[in-house]
Amino acid sequence: MSKELTPAQHDEIKALLLARRNELQGQMQQNRENLSPPTADEGGMVQRNVAREVDQALTDIDTADLARIERALEALADGSYGHCDECGCAIPFERLKIEPQTQHCVACKSRWEQTRAHH
Ligand SMILES: [Zn+2]
Repeated sequence: MSKELTPAQHDEIKALLLARRNELQGQMQQNRENLSPPTADEGGMVQRNVAREVDQALTDIDTADLARIERALEALADGSYGHCDECGCAIPFERLKIEPQTQHCVACKSRWEQTRAHH
């Protein structure tokens, strides 16, 4: 368990992560059902193809998010949770509560987003 988190905070984060994982898995299940083969109704064909592409993109985002949640749960279990991947500082609990799957402190994340925006 991380030194910075009390047992109560640890449990709170874990509950948040598990709830998000459930929610994402539910959404992905829903998306997969939407991706089922179209019927032979030609009039709605084009519209359905567009909807299928959007669903696919959403599924990719969900998959990446889910991977981050899994990693956060692993880090919680081995005690490395709550530290910035980049600078190693302890991420404030208030931030973790808002985005429990985050792996970067605010400073590193905004620096990374700025770098990316310039390319
Ligand atoms: Zn950092």
